[in-house]
Amino acid sequence: MSSAVVICHYHEVALKQRNREIFEKKLRTNIAFMLSDIVKQNMVMRGYGRLKIVLPFGFEETEKVEIVKSRLSNVFGLTNFGIGVVTALDIEKICEASLKVLKNKTFKTFSVKTKRQNKRFPLNSVEVNRQVGAYLLEEFKNEGKEVSVDLKNPDVSVHIEIVDKEVYVYADRFKGPGGLPVGSSGKVVSLLSAGFDSPIASYMMMKRGAKVIFVHYHSYPYTSYDSIEQVKQLVKILTKFQFHSKLFIVPIAEAQRIIVLNAPVGLRTILYRRLMIKIAEKIAEKEGAEALVTGESLGQVASQTLRNIRVINQIATFPILRPLIGIDKEEIIQKAREIGTYEISSQPYDDCCSFLTGRHPETWADFDEIFEVEKKLNWDELVDMSLSNAEIENVYAEFLNKDILEKIED
Ligand code: ATP
Ligand code: MG
Repeated sequence: MSSAVVICHYHEVALKQRNREIFEKKLRTNIAFMLSDIVKQNMVMRGYGRLKIVLPFGFEETEKVEIVKSRLSNVFGLTNFGIGVVTALDIEKICEASLKVLKNKTFKTFSVKTKRQNKRFPLNSVEVNRQVGAYLLEEFKNEGKEVSVDLKNPDVSVHIEIVDKEVYVYADRFKGPGGLPVGSSGKVVSLLSAGFDSPIASYMMMKRGAKVIFVHYHSYPYTSYDSIEQVKQLVKILTKFQFHSKLFIVPIAEAQRIIVLNAPVGLRTILYRRLMIKIAEKIAEKEGAEALVTGESLGQVASQTLRNIRVINQIATFPILRPLIGIDKEEIIQKAREIGTYEISSQPYDDCCSFLTGRHPETWADFDEIFEVEKKLNWDELVDMSLSNAEIENVYAEFLNKDILEKIED
């Protein structure tokens, strides 16, 4: 039995030279982490504008291959990947490998698609297609199988990629999730509640290559502990895309009590939000993050009117990214079902933002009123007080091989 190989492809060709290097290295490391319980780190290799993974089992071992397939479908930066075999720069070997990857497949029609990167290979891609096609027809005829070539709409395709020193042959090709490798764009701090929106906002940032640090605020013991438990479960799910997450769990009840003593009911939600931004910025500074992320979507709830977004923004010095700003709830919920956060987010929880806020929060906050109230508040004190009681959790993906934990970079 020969080892199966996975050939990984990525796009984003617009990337500049140096960025490309960072991108490829990150993608390689991320794949190695994602498969760390299956393959050794050095079995994930870069070269020829692709990544090659040598698996410790043959591609006929479908159950194991399925695991690899489902893991790779969560590695951002991959556009597609093929699972097959590697062979030598020799047309006979290529023919045999092509037959092998089609073994156990049921099909009536097939095609052969060759990409010849190595221009020194004596046959061009059309010639390879023809020779391999003819060989396969002959072999299947001898086996009594009725198959024919269909170039337009084949049941299966054999992909042949000829590079400098070897040839990759596979019939199984799968779509990757696209995006950029997590960590290749830098870090962000995501404000994570137990609702539907912020986990999806975090997911979208990871997909664009950001490593996400999570912060959750709670008003325990004035509100229940449920939101904290839910957020921990959400972070666990989201961590499978980035392997390691830091979660800051920050109690804000004391700071909220001080705000309540100084602010009219209608302004409290906005002030809590401004407090949350202040605290998140402090975390971002400490962690070397470049931006904050929220799950806000325009007009969804009272605090998400344009005016209130502007008022909340005004206190920030970091950019606040809102990947869901123009996205409908339906689409957000659809995504939550896809990535597996739906069940958790649909459970009821106490929201710290509704702590003594009344039923009608201000939808069009007034800057002057806010500034007037804030004269009585000392933000630095409130931020430090809240952060000094924060809990920090490190969450690791379940599949990670424990030996490599220390290699996980932030
Ligand atoms: P979500 O579904 O993400 O809770 P939402 O529609 O309920 O969003 P809000 O409750 O107004 O909207 O929250 C807006 C954003 O503020 C959230 O998406 C999240 O980024 C942040 N946020 C709200 N509550 C918390 C919290 N307790 N801890 C951390 N961030 C929060
Ligand atoms: Mg919420």
